[in-house]
This record gives sequence, structure tokens and C-alpha cells, in this order.
Amino acid sequence: MALAEETKRIAAQFEYTDEDVNKGVQEFLRQMNEGLQHDGTSMSQIPTYVTGVPNGTEKGLYLAVDLGGTNFRVCSIHLNGDTTFNLTYSKIAIPKELMVAEQASDLFGFLAKQIELFLRTHHEDHFAAHVRRRQTVSTPEGYRDEQIFRLGFTFSFPVRQVGINKGTLMRWTKGFDIPDAVGKDVCALLQQEIDRLHLPVKVAALVNDTVGTLMARSYTSPGKTSTLLGAIFGTGTNGAYVEKITNIKKPVEGDYDKTTGLMVINTEWGSFDNQLNVLPNTSYDIELDQKSVNPGIQIFEKRVSGMFLGEIVRLVVVDMLKNPAISLFKDENSSHNDWKSTTTIGEGSGIFQQWGLDSSLMSIAAADSTPDQSSLRQELEKQLNIYAASLEDAQAFRTVANAVGRRAARLSAVALGAVVLQSGKLQEASDEPIDIGVDGSLVEHYPFFRDMIYEALAAVDGIGPDGAKRIRIGIAKDGSGVGAALIALVAANMEKKGVVDYLNYIKNDVAQKWAATIPEAGESTTIA
Ligand code: ADP
Ligand code: MG
Repeated sequence: MALAEETKRIAAQFEYTDEDVNKGVQEFLRQMNEGLQHDGTSMSQIPTYVTGVPNGTEKGLYLAVDLGGTNFRVCSIHLNGDTTFNLTYSKIAIPKELMVAEQASDLFGFLAKQIELFLRTHHEDHFAAHVRRRQTVSTPEGYRDEQIFRLGFTFSFPVRQVGINKGTLMRWTKGFDIPDAVGKDVCALLQQEIDRLHLPVKVAALVNDTVGTLMARSYTSPGKTSTLLGAIFGTGTNGAYVEKITNIKKPVEGDYDKTTGLMVINTEWGSFDNQLNVLPNTSYDIELDQKSVNPGIQIFEKRVSGMFLGEIVRLVVVDMLKNPAISLFKDENSSHNDWKSTTTIGEGSGIFQQWGLDSSLMSIAAADSTPDQSSLRQELEKQLNIYAASLEDAQAFRTVANAVGRRAARLSAVALGAVVLQSGKLQEASDEPIDIGVDGSLVEHYPFFRDMIYEALAAVDGIGPDGAKRIRIGIAKDGSGVGAALIALVAANMEKKGVVDYLNYIKNDVAQKWAATIPEAGESTTIA
């Protein structure tokens, strides 16, 4: 009994009431607008120079790579021009040691190697043709024909973007720390390593995963409605939305298309309320932050996203294990345990290691509503070496995990709700849906995450149950890949319209002959 009571007391610390949600939304709106006024605010509100969203008619073959936080994905995408696409895909976990490497080239060299592997596996014909050409042709400008695949680089860290394929890293997040890369152009870093391997690839566009998600959702979403917001709930969390240019008060340097009156803004909402004006702050949140590589920043993200939720649960469990007044994951003898065994925590259990509890375990806890919690108990063995947990143990774990997960979903609703209110779309007399694309393992796999978001949205003043019904939250599956392809297409069109580089070159006869061997690469149509 003591265990259940103590669990309830702790879970209550993660309650995030309707009133809290409303306070959160008001403060989120305030900080969003502050970020549109000037630099140096907690939410960076970065202008992306993307001034329109696609409508589903775009065409072409592109490469896309996505450096998320946990995985590196390489894909090639054929946009069919009818809201559909074909995608070939590979995914690899980023080795932990590369996340904190000495040199930027350690990480980017690894990424280039994965691109080479992908091309050799899935586009062997193109690759072989390219190698043949390299052996037989040389030009004054060098091997311009090498730059045949346009690549969209989804790079999900804060970047000061200064052009469609140029941007300097502002800071690392999500546990990465390679000081050498900060302040450098991440596209150039990748291009260097690609060139070192002589791959036929040009880094054509730099894409934040949120912008990619927004573009992909807009390309694929049903009906005419264009998408308002792309949001990520994966290793980290962030969102990009369509803002009226007149609301952007800080200077936006350089050239961009002003005719739409709109520009996509990358909010970097992971650092919403770093100053803790309204965000909840339990002792577990404080401990997590203090032991993180970036204390004091990404404060919203540390309460919401996949990288951190498991760690919060772990800190709670460790705290409970230390409490002599309760019995969690221990019993004096086998009669205390409905599995007639004694619970043991195996050596090397992740429960005693920072980041040792993956958020996916929370999904299993949330999904297991069976009376004996058997799948959760099995998973505790598999993932954490906690053997023969009792029913009470599993229930306590589930209660804590659900409380942390529910708070994360309701905090997510703060961000989504604020962006919807900022857009003013609910005030427009229309019954068109307000479309939001989401991506990331958390929102995709955590049971009822979207339902919990909707429940909180319905409680927001200015949205309410009717407003919440107009908000359509859809998974943008493979969003970052498709989105990166769409932005590579924009870049290709810009090159076409503009002057520069090798497009002029491939207009000559020789180049056209080469291009004929790779018919689809770089083919494109316009973007709305
Ligand atoms: P990335 O952020 O690299 O693009 P993902 O979107 O796949 O990658 O997110 C990975 C994060 O999601 C990790 O922090 C992981 O712990 C978490 N995660 C993976 N599967 C689940 C799941 N089933 N439930 C909750 N969180 C999950
Ligand atoms: Mg991702």
C-alpha cells in the first residue's frame, strides 16, 4: 500500500492542469512575438527564407539525408507530382562517440560514408556510370559532372541560415557536443567530406527537420488546405510555421520572394521559457538539467521529447529505490511476489545509468492495460535487467511513466495551441481544417499522445472543443526526407533562374550526353 500511495504522490507532481496549459499558451505567444522582434530571445524564431509551401504537383528525383539526434537517415525520393512519392531508405544509429567527437570531420566523414554506401546499394547504376565518367572525362572546372544528385540536408540543430544551402551551427543540442563544428557552415562540412569520397552529390539545400515536415505534409496532405505547422516530437522537439511577413519585425537580410507575404519561421521552441516563467520544474527536472551537457537551455525540450522523458522516469525510480519506507523492485522472499520469485535488478541495469531508460519503455507501459502487466514486466527484464518485477512494481512504474508522458503531451499542446492562435485562422469564417504535420518516434509511437494533445487543446481559451475539432494533426511519415527533397527542388529552381555554376555548364553538348545517362536526376518543376 505504501508503494501505491507514494507513487500517487510523486505522479501528482507531474500534473499539468488546464489552467497551467492556458498560462503556458499565453507565455508561449508572448515569447514567440518577442522572438519576432529581435535576436537573443529564448525562442530564436529563425526566418528560413522559405516563402511558400508545396501543393503536391512537384516532380523529380532527389537525395535527402537527415541527421536527427538518434539516427542518420539516407534516402532517395521520387516526387511523382500527384501528391505521391516513391522513397528508398536506409537508417543507421549514430555512434555515440561521434556525437562528442574531437573534429567535425569525424562526424561528417561518417555521414558521407553512409551516403556512399547508400548510392552503391540503391543506385549502383548511376554510381557506376559516374565512376566511368570520372575515368574518361576531365574539364577545366574539374569534375562538375560529379555533382549530379541534388541533396537536401536535414540538419536538426539550431542553425543561422544565410542561404538555401548555407548555414552556421549556433549550438549543439540533444547530447551532441563537437565544439569544432560550432560557427561553421554545416553544408560545407558535409560537402567537403562528400568531395573527399568523390561522390556525385551536391548539397543543394539545408533543411531544418521541422521545415521539412511542414513541406512534406503540405505536399501530401489531403485537399487544397496548405499546412500551417510542422512539428517534431522525436529525440528533441521543435516546430516551424507559416508567419505573415508583416509580423516579422526584426530585420531579415538578403533576398527572398515577397509576393506570398508569408515566410516559414523555425521557432526553436525547444528553448521556450528557458527562464522558467511558467514551465513546471520538479526536483527531477532540475536534476536532469543539471546533469545534462547544456544546463539551463532547451528547458521546454527537456520536459517534452524522447531523449529526456525516459531519463525523468529513471530519476524518479532511482529516488524511489533509495526510499527505505517503500518497496519497489525488491521483495523479502518469493511469497511476496505473484510470479513466486524474488525481484532482482541485474548488474549493469540501465536504471542506474544516465540515459539508461529509453522512452520507448514508457510506450510499452502506456500500452499495457492487461491486469497482470505482463508485457511491461517482460520489457523491464529485457530493457533494464529488472527480473521478476511484481505486479505492484509494474503498476508503480506505469503510473510514474504515464504521468511523465501525459505532462509531455499537454506541454506539446501549449506549443501547438499557441501557433494556431498566432495564425488567427480560427477567427476566419471558414470550416477548412487547420492542418498540422507532426513527425518523430514519440508522437508516432507513444499511445494516445495525439489524443492527449487534443484534450488539452480543447481546454485552451480561444480554441475550445469546437476549435480543437478544426485542428487536423497528421503524421508526416518520412517527412524530413520528402521535405528535404522538396527544398532541394526549390534550390534547383533557384539555380535555374539565377546565374551560377554547373547548370550552365551542363547545358553544353558534352554535359547533356552525360546527363542523358542519368535521366531523372535533378529533374524538377515549379513549386507553389
Ligand atoms: P530522430 O530524433 O533522430 O529523428 P526519432 O524521431 O526516431 O529520431 O526519435 C528518437 C527518440 O524517440 C529517442 O529519444 C527514443 O528514445 C524515442 N522513442 C523511440 N521509440 C519510442 C517509442 N515507441 N515511444 C516513445 N519514445 C520513443
Ligand atoms: Mg527526426
